[in-house]
Amino acid sequence: MTRRAVLSLSLLLLLLTPASAEAGRIERELVGYSVQGKPIVSWQQGGSEPDFRVLVVGSIHGDESQGMRVVSRIRQNLAGRRGPKGIGIWTIKSVNPDGSASGTRKNARGVDLNRNFPYRWDGSLDGGYNSGPSPASERETRAVMRFSRRFDFDLAVWFHQPWGRTLAPCDGQRRWAFLYARLSGLGTGGSCDRGRYPGSAVSWQHHELGTTAFVVEFGSGLQTRPVIARHARAVIRLARRMAPG
Ligand SMILES: [Zn+2]
Repeated sequence: MTRRAVLSLSLLLLLLTPASAEAGRIERELVGYSVQGKPIVSWQQGGSEPDFRVLVVGSIHGDESQGMRVVSRIRQNLAGRRGPKGIGIWTIKSVNPDGSASGTRKNARGVDLNRNFPYRWDGSLDGGYNSGPSPASERETRAVMRFSRRFDFDLAVWFHQPWGRTLAPCDGQRRWAFLYARLSGLGTGGSCDRGRYPGSAVSWQHHELGTTAFVVEFGSGLQTRPVIARHARAVIRLARRMAPG
């Protein structure tokens, strides 16, 4: 498909989206485009004019797909309902649609997007963790940065594989990751991980927005349906616990 065709298709998608403030409304937003011109699309669901804004990203590494199933499940759970009061949930299946299409970790330029964010970017990384020629060199990275600044998310949950644990930040935010671990049944393993990974999306979000962002690492391979469903519920329950009022 040509860039123009992709563009008009995504425009059509946006136009077809009901934008009313009724129960179960879905507002689709174009976050940006991948290197190969694939649209990165977010769905906003939940309460209208939310005070508490949540971002859920199913995948940034194209060979880690299970978080995208959690995103589908969250969308299903919120469809046709008003959703949690005062809480808005933005879901993105993949911020690396080229990698997701080809089943590869990195983007179409061979960059690990989760090492390309400008906070504590490390240019010495290469191979499997190639951080790119410069901080935020990749269009997918810049799209996520613009989108995050625009909505100023209070909570961001990013799904990965295959470590099989919830990664707790090492600062005061860790309690929310611990709570998520309890709600989802995926433990933290007792250690903390903040700042170990240069140029990561969650470290940048936490630094830039000053809010809570953490990673959930499923184990390798296909997760069961009950596990996916439990994580989808855990995200909403965590947001309810964190949201004021
Ligand atoms: Zn990953």
